[in-house]
Amino acid sequence: MSRVYNFSAGPSMLAEWVLKKAASQMLEYRDSGQSVMEMSHRSSEFKAIITECEQRLRRVMGIPDHYKVLFLQGGASLQFSMIPMNLLIKGHADVIHTGQWSKKAIAELNKIGRADILASSEDATFSYIPDVDALPYHADADYVYICENNTIYGTKYKKLPQTGNVPLVADLSSCILSEPIDVSQYGLIFAGAQKNMGPAGLTVVIIRDDLIGHASANTPSMLNYQTIADQDSMFNTPPTYAIYICNLVLQWIEDIIGGLAEMKKRNDQKAALLYDFLDHSDMFSNPVKPKDRSLMNVTFVTGNEALDAKFISEAKAQGLINVKGHRSVGGMRASIYNAMPMAGVERLVAFMKQFELDN
Ligand SMILES: *Cc1c(COP(=O)(O)O)cnc(C)c1O
Repeated sequence: MSRVYNFSAGPSMLAEWVLKKAASQMLEYRDSGQSVMEMSHRSSEFKAIITECEQRLRRVMGIPDHYKVLFLQGGASLQFSMIPMNLLIKGHADVIHTGQWSKKAIAELNKIGRADILASSEDATFSYIPDVDALPYHADADYVYICENNTIYGTKYKKLPQTGNVPLVADLSSCILSEPIDVSQYGLIFAGAQKNMGPAGLTVVIIRDDLIGHASANTPSMLNYQTIADQDSMFNTPPTYAIYICNLVLQWIEDIIGGLAEMKKRNDQKAALLYDFLDHSDMFSNPVKPKDRSLMNVTFVTGNEALDAKFISEAKAQGLINVKGHRSVGGMRASIYNAMPMAGVERLVAFMKQFELDN
């Protein structure tokens, strides 16, 4: 067996500790005589798993008691619709447009209410984050919406919009659990699990209590946060195995890594190694404004498409897979989520150095 270093933007690597633990429990979870995949979601064994998962997430992220944690399906993309369905009261929200994921969120918001786009970085191919202090926020907006880490372009907000009484809603799909955050700064946080939390099929929503219960009466039950919150994410069958793996990922962060401060330290070191190399390379460069660089998704180009393609295919032959950039921007992208070990980034940088010498 030889495992590759997978730089995919998602689904992405899981820590080997998590995979081994899951493998050891595949045929029989504890003394239940069955795998977690086969269990009733109403069983006491599974209830213990989902409860443990929520409690760990609350501990690891420091989620205050007046926030609910919801385990959902439909991906981060369904939240582009559920958020306006549940949070719009006056009918409009402020949005900062920083890439394809905010574009999709805007399109869905506009089907239900109105998105007021306060700023956009489209003028420079989303290579920076607009200055959040200089924007004309509407005091009567139902919420302010951001995509905090832009997976495709490799940008990240280092400072959150200060929205006063207007709740901040943020897509953290590609940066959740990468560093400590102050949850109380947000009204709602959501993330598809397949980048930093576990396998695809699970979406996590962290929502302040007072934002639940405003959906109109004709909202389908499955799309109403109230239904899901009232039933402790068990209105229907939740994605049981994905929740089980998410719990293992959280256990890995908490017990093996030692929490989010230590996680961030490691993520800083990995990203610094790569950005530092890019800043000194004559062949490769990173197109993002330095202060807005993502810790999780590092984009780079050679400036020559044929050379990019050669790099991607030779990297793959070295076991460094999925370094191709998103089809909308081209070039390369190394997604270095929590589970990517330092050794993987070292291997990538060593290969880039060699490639630069050879070409
Ligand atoms: C991956 C991603 C999404 C889409 O997630 P799905 O679960 O596939 O719907 C949305 N937003 C961001 C920031 C992402 O990285």
